[in-house]
Amino acid sequence: PVDRFPEIQEARLKLPVLAEEQVIMEAVRENPFVVICGETGSGKTTQVPQFLYEAGYASDGGIIGITEPRRVAAVSMSHRVAKEMNLSTRVVSYQIRYEGNVTSDTKIQFMTDGVLLKEIQKDFLLKRYSAIIIDEAHERSVYTDILIGLLSRIVPLRNKKGMPMKLLVMSATLCVEDFTDNIKLFRVPPPVIKVDARQYPVTIHFNKRTPLEDYTGEVFHKTCKIHRMLPPGGILVFLTGQAEVHSLCRRLRKAFPFRKGSTTTDSSESMRRFKKAKQKKAVSLPRIDLDNYSALPVDEGDEDREAGIGDEEDEGSDLENEDDPTITEKADPSIPLFVLPLYSLLAPEKQAKVFRPPPPGTRLCVVATNVAETSLTIPGIKYVVDCGRVKKRFYDRVTGVSSFKISWISQASANQRAGRAGRTEPGHCYRLYSSAVFGDFSLFSEAEITRRPVEDLVLQMKDLNIDKVVNFPFPTSPSAEALIAAEQLLVSLGALKEVKEMEQARLSCPITPLGSAMASFPVTPRYAKMLALGKQQDCLPYVIAVVAAMTVRELFENLDRPAGSEDESSKLTQRRARLTQMRRLWAGQGTSLLLGDLMVMLGAVGACEFASCSPKFCEDIGLRYKAMLEIRRLRRQLTNAVNAVSPEVDAFVNPKMTPPTEHQVVCLRQIVLAGLGDHLARRVQAEDLLDPKWKNGYKTPLMDEPVFIHPTSALFKTLPEFVVYQEIVETTKMYMKGVSAVEQE
Ligand code: ADP
Ligand code: MG
Repeated sequence: PVDRFPEIQEARLKLPVLAEEQVIMEAVRENPFVVICGETGSGKTTQVPQFLYEAGYASDGGIIGITEPRRVAAVSMSHRVAKEMNLSTRVVSYQIRYEGNVTSDTKIQFMTDGVLLKEIQKDFLLKRYSAIIIDEAHERSVYTDILIGLLSRIVPLRNKKGMPMKLLVMSATLCVEDFTDNIKLFRVPPPVIKVDARQYPVTIHFNKRTPLEDYTGEVFHKTCKIHRMLPPGGILVFLTGQAEVHSLCRRLRKAFPFRKGSTTTDSSESMRRFKKAKQKKAVSLPRIDLDNYSALPVDEGDEDREAGIGDEEDEGSDLENEDDPTITEKADPSIPLFVLPLYSLLAPEKQAKVFRPPPPGTRLCVVATNVAETSLTIPGIKYVVDCGRVKKRFYDRVTGVSSFKISWISQASANQRAGRAGRTEPGHCYRLYSSAVFGDFSLFSEAEITRRPVEDLVLQMKDLNIDKVVNFPFPTSPSAEALIAAEQLLVSLGALKEVKEMEQARLSCPITPLGSAMASFPVTPRYAKMLALGKQQDCLPYVIAVVAAMTVRELFENLDRPAGSEDESSKLTQRRARLTQMRRLWAGQGTSLLLGDLMVMLGAVGACEFASCSPKFCEDIGLRYKAMLEIRRLRRQLTNAVNAVSPEVDAFVNPKMTPPTEHQVVCLRQIVLAGLGDHLARRVQAEDLLDPKWKNGYKTPLMDEPVFIHPTSALFKTLPEFVVYQEIVETTKMYMKGVSAVEQE
């Protein structure tokens, strides 16, 4: 029995999913697979695990597992459910890639989908679990898709062996045909339970015109207008990336300053003000197309993936106009706005702020990327401002070059965003694009698996003895080219055994012992290869540190951001100078310099550990604290993983890592080359220099265009003849990231 606090119980009863408890539990009893569809905020994530718990699914020793595509959700939902059930986090716990609070008492375990996939490798039958819930299946994250494919086989196997297990797939949309009408996946289509939305109507307001250039300016104006003229109720703004979010937050804070203690503590006072403001200016809403919100399916958000996809380069600035008096609103402290940013790289305690009510007398305004689209329900939102765009990572099919591009969202996404306004009362959604443009949006966006390289998935599957990956029951299959490219890369890394060409065409190269070892490391195959080679020359601690640093995104803070004030600007300049100086120091000289950006990473990790990874140290020298913590945990995890594969090396994490010797640097470069061997670039030769676009450029085998070393790179001045790079990201130019020099024999 669960002993909930009365106020929690009361809040639960308001959630639509509660009304379906009986229906859901009956379906679960009678079917191995059940699909639940319900609008975001209807209570799926927080309540369904509790239903299973109360029905006894965690009482015979088995536990209830819930997967989330986003770490933010796994952590915050586990805390919420523990609180609702009045149970300790020893019982309701979470596990994400590098961190968790799971104990032997855990009964409900939230985790990222990548974590469960790893667990399947250790125990294919997932014997610890009595039920698995795959949450946010509509996002179509790669791991979610694979998990559903695997569980479609695991659940019947468990039932056959007399160890019954249940699979629940939960989606915020009704678009579940890829799962339900897919004979390869489920021979008998699983029952689909629709949770009544109980969504208040949301009035959609389209722009007459669609700003193509300065949409962030338009977002700013619209938000100001809403705040000045419309009755109380939270505002949720959707933008595409961290830089945009920060810049809008700054502009809004400037326009409607809020200082602690400066506001009246009476919210009726703020209501009175709004009424007064209303009388002064006759409220005229923009011309609108009135149509009520209806629950339409959604698609993925692409921001906070285990694989590390996201908001990287803060290219350019949308702030150019900030000081233009025609754009900047006159500061009006009489109606303070409580502005909060929300994006996936934001520190967790700052993320948690959005769940708390704003200070009395202020209006809440959350400026978010698409993390707010379905993963987190922010309470009290009445107005949504939707820029209609999303930042996504695109991969070039041939070259593998990735770039972050801002593109239109899908209709499903737009409707999902609009829906955020109608959780607590009728709301309004302002779409800053015309209805004609909306009509041109695609209905849904594609499953992630069709848009990215799949070598990591192929290796995981081979390790699960799925030799013919083409036959795997994917909800949506990756393209044949992608599968072939993955298989070829894995062969070249030695993870798969080369077979005759004809066999290879059938994609059935078997895994090698090296491949199995690689598959057990929680990093993608190139980095796994480096770890597998790390035993030589006492290099392992360095290899582990470098791999950890390379796979964690964005070690350095973005100090190129525009400053809000002169004071901030001079501080930023100072910090930039210090970071540049530190980078130079970490890069070292001579041999070590040739390890390039990786040497800098190693130096940063070492320095940070030396300072016990304190937030202040990170802040002072421009390292991103969250990234450094993650590296620290990942080092520990990778060390354990290496020890599990080869106990004889007895690796340990030495926090006070001394810099590598010259000999070790040479060895490190060879190891890095072994993982990134196909990412080789050669400085252009004199004969190519006729065309100025090739100046300081590098040639790669796959591309016709030059690629470059970034000005912040340790090798920017050296320009070695041969380099390997971690990846190429297209921003203003094609830049190589994580560059190190290759020795010429
Ligand atoms: P769904 O999974 O269907 O989108 P959830 O179970 O996530 O719905 O949310 C149900 C309700 O619980 C929402 O109204 C949400 O605002 C509330 N909620 C979730 N997490 C928290 C939290 N940390 N603090 C307060 N309320 C929360
Ligand atoms: Mg949910």
